[in-house]
Amino acid sequence: MPKNSQCVLCGAIGEVTKDYLPPKSCFPSPKPNNLITVRACKNCNGGRSLLDHKFSLFLSIAVHGQSLEGKRLWAQRATALASNKALMREVLSLRTEGEDCYRFSLDFVQFKPLFQDIFRGLYFREFREVYPPDKIFDLTFKEKLDSWDLDLIRCLSPGAVGSNTFFHGIGRAAEDPAAAAGMISFYGKFAVIGVCVPSRHSNQST
Ligand SMILES: [Zn+2]
Repeated sequence: MPKNSQCVLCGAIGEVTKDYLPPKSCFPSPKPNNLITVRACKNCNGGRSLLDHKFSLFLSIAVHGQSLEGKRLWAQRATALASNKALMREVLSLRTEGEDCYRFSLDFVQFKPLFQDIFRGLYFREFREVYPPDKIFDLTFKEKLDSWDLDLIRCLSPGAVGSNTFFHGIGRAAEDPAAAAGMISFYGKFAVIGVCVPSRHSNQST
């Protein structure tokens, strides 16, 4: 990776580092050998590290009952969570009592900057072009995947990291590279859909 290059996330030219998207900590060890990395400036990469850490802890709770991989992630992240009292309080405030166990709702909104970066990273990886820094993806969070979601992900050059841990897909319009749609799913448990339709000439019917 050349040291001075364009940051895939913000478009700045300068010193770049290797950024893992999603963060490495979202995967149980041993890590999958096909983690996604992009070049990112120190501002983008380092500026997100606390959020990355927090997301991996929240994720480990959300997916711990989901699969073998989810159980492994939880087992490996639980100590880090237990040692962070503020985070622990926040987690406890988010749980709701379910029928046979506590349910935990992932607070999606605070992790939007991370999801934006993941979609930018996927876009670059797929098309080898930096997604226009002035455009943002509209994000929708889905706690349950339905067949429509699965159909969508199949249309969007689907890929996966590890087994049963992270699924992704991204596509764009041939006539407008900034018009893009993507979908990511963590452990098959929840998904985030990102769509950007640049507002140029829209003729929406009401
Ligand atoms: Zn940057």
